[in-house]
Order: sequence, then C-alpha cells, then structure tokens
Amino acid sequence: MIDPFTYIGLPARVVFGPGKRAELAAEVDRIGARKALVISTPEQRSDAEMAAELLGDRAAGIHAKAIMHTPMETVHEARQMAAELGADCYVTVGGGTAIGLGKGIALESEKPVIALPTTYAGSEMSTIQGFTEDGVKTTRLDDRMLPKTVIYDPELTLSLPPSYSGPSGMNAIAHAVEALYAEHANPIISMIAEEGIRALGEGLPKICARPDDLEGRTYALYGSWLCGIALGAGGMALHHKLCHVVGGSFNLPHAQTHTIILPHAMAYNASATEAAMARVCRALGADNAPNAVCDLIETIGAPMALKDLGMPEDGLDRAADMAVKNPYYNPRAVTRDGIRALLDDAWHGRRPPA
Ligand code: NAD
Repeated sequence: MIDPFTYIGLPARVVFGPGKRAELAAEVDRIGARKALVISTPEQRSDAEMAAELLGDRAAGIHAKAIMHTPMETVHEARQMAAELGADCYVTVGGGTAIGLGKGIALESEKPVIALPTTYAGSEMSTIQGFTEDGVKTTRLDDRMLPKTVIYDPELTLSLPPSYSGPSGMNAIAHAVEALYAEHANPIISMIAEEGIRALGEGLPKICARPDDLEGRTYALYGSWLCGIALGAGGMALHHKLCHVVGGSFNLPHAQTHTIILPHAMAYNASATEAAMARVCRALGADNAPNAVCDLIETIGAPMALKDLGMPEDGLDRAADMAVKNPYYNPRAVTRDGIRALLDDAWHGRRPPA
C-alpha cells in the first residue's frame, strides 16, 4: 500500500567523484559567470587557495571569514568584497559553516553559488539556514539559498580528522533517519534516505580505521549527499528539535550533539515508526535500529554522552522544558517526562534498551 504523497525535487546540479574539483572552472563557465569570490572558514584558507588556483583568472579573491552561526555582518562583508572585486558568483569550500555563509549571500544577492562540501553535514542540499543578527538567531527557509552546482570531491574530505568525520557522518545519518518518519515522508525520499544510511554505514568505519581510505571517503560523501537530500525534503522531528535546543542552549558542538542524541530519539520514536526502523535495520544489516546506531557510534569511536561534551547535569530540566514548550510534529506524542528521561540517558551515555 502506498499512501498519497507530494514529492518536490530540488534543482541542484551535482558533480560527484574523486578529483572532480578539477572541473570547477568549467562549472563557473556553465552557469554563465565570469569571476568567483571563494568563501571558506579561516581554518580552511588553504582549501580556498586551492580552489582559487583551480579557477585561475576566474578567481576574484578569497573571503576566508565564515564563522559559526552565520552572522549577517559576515554576509554583508562578503557581498561588499565581491562587489569591489567584480565577482558575479561565489564558490564555497568547506562544511556547513562555509555553506551557511554562501546561503546568506545567495538569499540576499541572488548571485549563484557553487559548493564544494568538505564534511558530511549535507547543508548544501537544504533550503533552510540559521542566521544571527544583533545576537538573535533566525531560521530562514528559502529555495534561493540552494547552490546552483555542488561538486562532491571525496579527496577534499581526506583532511577531515576521524574525530570529526565520524560525528559529521552521524549528523548526516540523523537527517535520513528523521526523513523516514517526518510528517511529509514519501517513498522517494525514504529510498534515498535508506541508501544514504547504508553508504555511511559502509564508509564511516573504514574512514575511522584509516582516514586516507578513499573508497571509504567516497562512500561516506555519497551517503552524506543522499542524507542531505533527505534533509532538504524538510520536516524533521524530535531528534532535530532536541539537538537544536540542547546544542544551542549549552553551546555544544553540532555534529557530536547529533551523534549522541540520535539513538535515544530513535528509541523514543521506535514504537510509532516501525517501517522507518525496518529501513534503518536493512541499511545497517541489523535487527534493532537504535542499537545498530549505537554500535556504529562505538565502532567509529565517537562520543556517547552529553556530559562528555560539557553539558551540565543541572541543565537537563531546562532542556526538557524547552523541548516541550512549542508543539511540533513528531510521530509519537512528546511528553515532558519522556523527554526528561531520554535526555538523562543521553547525558549519561546509557544505551537505549534493546
Ligand atoms: P563546519 O563547517 O563548522 O566545520 C568544522 C571545522 O572543520 C571548521 O573549522 C572547518 O573549516 C573544518 N573543516 C571542514 N572540512 C574540513 C576538512 N575536509 N579538512 C579539515 N578541516 C575541515 O562543520 P559542519 O559540521 O559541516 O557544519 C556545522 C554547521 O553547519 C553548524 O553551524 C550547523 O548548524 C550547520 N548545518 C546547517 C545545516 C542546514 O541545513 N542549514 C545542515 C547541517 C549543518
């Protein structure tokens, strides 16, 4: 039985494969642009320089100032620099932080962005982004933020340390898991999500055993793209809400917070999401989805407890209050007691019951 659904495919051109960054200049030509401003974080300036070199005379300059929480001042600064240098498009090199800045620029200027992702966060496939202005964070949802072209070159992820590669991949898996039971779940996205989880389940252990394993990197980046599509389909649920609340309120690292919360959010929702859990089991070759995710986290040596990220135990009540304050879609009713118990398990790093 197939329930009625609505499916929207987002229109990004994707170029995938080891070494594909070499096609960057041709992709700039393809979108009809002449000069690109290259965007990165300060930590990835050398990657931005690599991109500028590939662009040759199509490079207008480098803006290596992307920072977390995407302040609007940085967006304005980058746009001003682009105007001064005569750039008519942007190239982002990096993870969600660099891509977030690219999204802000695309939103305000409507100039095209080409993204070269270097983590597994999947932000380049979504039309949602948080921006900070005068200390206030606002989330925007707008199709104009989508990059015109995404070049996935797994060689660009070789430098991402295993300690971040693992959690970053788990962040991607979380997008796919929630897409399987989101309010607007549909069979197309479910198929993509399952394949994304399978590819990351294959790639992440290889990378964490040997960071220079290009095959593992290729599987993981392919999986992260698919999980990004699942994220881009919209409509996440409890897991993303909890990560937003806990990560934002206690300033916890993004990917690691997703890693720790995921098996607990899954265990909470499992009784109401049997078909979704069956897909996760099939993707990971297991018979209990939350436990299979715990096993994967253990295999890749990622953190299992919120206390290890520095969250204070006396913050658990506040986090539970905030998580139930405003209603949102979740396949199982969200109760204050249920969330408090879930957070307690996640704080201590207990495995959800089998
Ligand atoms: P990130 O972009 O913040 O990168 C973390 C650090 O690793 C940075 O210093 C970065 O320069 C560095 N780095 C990235 N790739 C590297 C590589 N290959 N080699 C060496 N260093 C590298 O991390 P992220 O997890 O990709 O993104 C997290 C941010 O993105 C969060 O702020 C999150 O809210 C946002 N995000 C947004 C969405 C969305 O759809 N809007 C989705 C996922 C994440």
